[in-house]
Amino acid sequence: MELKDKVIVVTGGGRGLGRAMALELAGKGAKLALVDLDPNDLDTTVAQCAELDVEARSYICNVTEEDAVEQLFKDVVADFGTLNGLVNNAGITRDGLFLKVKEGKVVGKMSMDQWNQVLNVNLTGTFLCGREAAAQMIELGSAGCIINISSISRHGNMGQTNYTATKAAVQAMAVTWAKELARYGIRATSIAPGYIGTEMVMSMKPEALDKIAAGIPAKRLGKPEEIARAVSFIFENDYVNGRCIEVDGALRI
Ligand code: NDP
Repeated sequence: MELKDKVIVVTGGGRGLGRAMALELAGKGAKLALVDLDPNDLDTTVAQCAELDVEARSYICNVTEEDAVEQLFKDVVADFGTLNGLVNNAGITRDGLFLKVKEGKVVGKMSMDQWNQVLNVNLTGTFLCGREAAAQMIELGSAGCIINISSISRHGNMGQTNYTATKAAVQAMAVTWAKELARYGIRATSIAPGYIGTEMVMSMKPEALDKIAAGIPAKRLGKPEEIARAVSFIFENDYVNGRCIEVDGALRI
């Protein structure tokens, strides 16, 4: 798919990886529908895209709310006239041990709140946005592509029972969608980033970050632009479908 003038939705487009993806796609001439909770972050990303001479619009929407997501995709199609792609990027962490044990006694548990918050955004949000994007593309007869942002953590990572469950799931959902939607000209893939230097990761303690970087064969965190380039590669290559692209500096957890 040639990206010029294609309409792409990026959730979590206000900052971090979502902003880098928006700028990468804008650089290729795509039109952007950027979705987030924070209007200030969105304004900044929209302004940066506009500097690259493309149409970019902001949509405040909580991806966990079914009605809001249905309306979002109707609005995007009404505003731009079509839809060609989605990056399911909005995501959160609420890390904690599954069980905390001191001297043989269980002193803490991952709470239902930690579990539900992460499942709602990372899993339900991805499900809803993927479903509504595909529904619109099918009805428009528009070929396109959906990319779910998974994570290296999908294999299982200490302190991330909730997050790993969602990131394994969004990868598997992309495989299912690839199989179900190919007949409509819609591809679905995922990307599994390693540790990338966005706010989500940079908010960790410096000692923890140093330890992580030391364990990566590349000896550094990834850059948001390196994930963004994987996004444009997938959009542009029509034979990439149903697979997970790993962009992690060779780290294995
Ligand atoms: P950030 O926290 O920097 O950005 C996430 C964005 O998603 C924020 O703008 C946030 O908005 C938005 N968001 C959160 N919840 C919702 C919601 N309910 N509805 C709409 N928007 C929402 O994260 P990153 O850029 O680092 O991560 C982006 C994606 O990449 C996530 O899915 C993450 O799991 C994944 N990832 C990141 C890695 C990394 O190393 N950074 C590694 C592997 C995967 P607000 O600011 O208003 O909360």
